Amino acid sequence: MGQPSIDYGAIGLTVGLEIHQQLATKTKLFCGCPAELSDEEHDEFRRRLRPTRSELGEVDIAALFEWRKGRVYEYEAPHHHSCLVEADEEPPHPINREAVVIAMAVAKALGSWIVDEVHVMRKIVIDGSNTSGFQRTAIVALGGSIRVEGRDYSIETIVVEEDAARKLGERGRTTRYRLDRLGIPLIEIATGPDMHTPEEAYKVALAIGRLLRLTGKVKRGLGTIRQDLNVSIRGGAKTEIKGVQRLDLIPRVVEYEALRQLRLLEIRDELRRRGVKAEDVRAVEPVDVTEIFRGTASKVVRRAIEAGGVVLALRLPGFHGLLGRELVPGRRLGTELADYARFWGGVGGLFHSDELPKYGITREEVEEVYNALGARRGWDAFVLVAGDPDSARRAIEAVRERAAQATIGVPEETRAANEDGTTRFLRPRPGSARMYPETDIPPLLVTEDMHDEAEKIKPEPVEVKLKRLVEEYGLPRDMAERVISDIRLDLIERLIRRFHPRVPAKLIASIFTVTLKGIKSKGADPEAVRDEHLEEIVEMLAEGRIAKEAVEPLLVELSKHPGETARQAAERLGLTSVSREEAERIVEEIVRSNVAIIKERRERAHGPIMGRAMAKLRGRIDGRIVSELVAKKIKEVLEEIDKLAREEGGASP
Ligand SMILES: [Zn+2]
Repeated sequence: MGQPSIDYGAIGLTVGLEIHQQLATKTKLFCGCPAELSDEEHDEFRRRLRPTRSELGEVDIAALFEWRKGRVYEYEAPHHHSCLVEADEEPPHPINREAVVIAMAVAKALGSWIVDEVHVMRKIVIDGSNTSGFQRTAIVALGGSIRVEGRDYSIETIVVEEDAARKLGERGRTTRYRLDRLGIPLIEIATGPDMHTPEEAYKVALAIGRLLRLTGKVKRGLGTIRQDLNVSIRGGAKTEIKGVQRLDLIPRVVEYEALRQLRLLEIRDELRRRGVKAEDVRAVEPVDVTEIFRGTASKVVRRAIEAGGVVLALRLPGFHGLLGRELVPGRRLGTELADYARFWGGVGGLFHSDELPKYGITREEVEEVYNALGARRGWDAFVLVAGDPDSARRAIEAVRERAAQATIGVPEETRAANEDGTTRFLRPRPGSARMYPETDIPPLLVTEDMHDEAEKIKPEPVEVKLKRLVEEYGLPRDMAERVISDIRLDLIERLIRRFHPRVPAKLIASIFTVTLKGIKSKGADPEAVRDEHLEEIVEMLAEGRIAKEAVEPLLVELSKHPGETARQAAERLGLTSVSREEAERIVEEIVRSNVAIIKERRERAHGPIMGRAMAKLRGRIDGRIVSELVAKKIKEVLEEIDKLAREEGGASP
């Protein structure tokens, strides 16, 4: 990764995981709408957030609401995938029993303690992703552990909660959401802070994901599973990183976060050496430097001024050279300050002295700002923010506070994962007073019946499942292992149960773990092939409608035309089987027109005739049958030839 390797033990890295996974229930968590996304027709409505004062326990959350109150939220309400509950015009229905039972099954597999009554709580959400202003969440089980490579990792809580609305985009102060996803049940599994290297975090996440798939009751595909990470190093701060969608990104996210905290601590130490204190930073007043930039060549600044805005500058005492210092690839301390300016001020970003002159801002303008601030060159740094007076003021004050924090250490933050494994500031970390009882929903009593049902779908231990695939279905051990780690494990198992031995388990398993993966090398996308396609293909194999040679070309075709059924594609490509009788007729024809070769080569004519027969029959019937038929027909012809020869011989004197 180009980074110096970090001694994670020495820096005291700890990582905890929160795995969120959509459950494959029929209906949503608090209403009867189907628990799936939909592109069907929709109605629209607009809202502003309307929290009540009494529900705001905390200053920072209250401040957030103040800032957010000018925002407008637009919602698309699909006709059959949302109702009055999602629109927050009707109280939520009792909690979905099926979702609770699935969570109980997972809890049993993890040895967790299941609660007697499930109580629904409200968690404040500030981004409009829930029309009610809350996310509803309920603890189903506590404690337990998962064993990975001989070590036990503790589980803290197992929770069911509702997924948020699907964000479609942002335009000015308006955010647009679609309500199909709102209310889809999620299971959330939170581990203890037991992992101490990026690799370890990855392996535990992998094991939990696999355990969830082993229930056969979870959704799959991108967006159905989401990992949050809690990362800290000794002397740093617990940082909550939201929304890591790809498992393989986990090691990099953890590594970058460790590195970021490490570098922030180095910057703190440097500031201390320079004698800079938080109160020195907090005491600095921003200065309006709009006049300096009246004729600026910087488009961003000029546009802000023309729109009636201002340019504010803030001196950062003793910060020279530190704002440009890289924390992780592509992100500097200056980037961290810019995140705060954007979040609290809603401005586009900021400029800082370590990167100037640049972006159309000239050396002369920089000099004038230094003068206006009374700043010491080579010692102080400064930042510039342009925007409407209110926004610019809020932004520069947030930057000042973040800079003051830099003298203390790593601030407690909730961050969001970027595609490249770096993270950005999302919001301050909430305190503990964030949950409220949901009074609209009665608690659900956990009954014996529910325990029995959960016991039935409780995922069996990996070792037991492996043994069964090997002993009962005759899979080679390495193939069984690949099946268990396969994202479509539940489908593979279902097809094996249904079609083995008519279609041997080994063939079914290899379609998923070898053939499907292999189409990538033919420029096709395995993910585009739908479950229905794979199911149909195995069905057709069972019916003798296609030969196994037809599977690969069919998968390649279906990945390119996912709208088509497997049967349609097989017909179109001429991959449908011929019956044994039909094949026999075709082979007969070929043999009859090649009698000369048979006369000459006798049994050794099998090779060339087989080649001609396969040209017509490849992928339409098992090659062994063709070979058998060719041999049989050659034998018949040879018998006729020999009989004729004998008769001729017998007739001669
Ligand atoms: Zn609904």
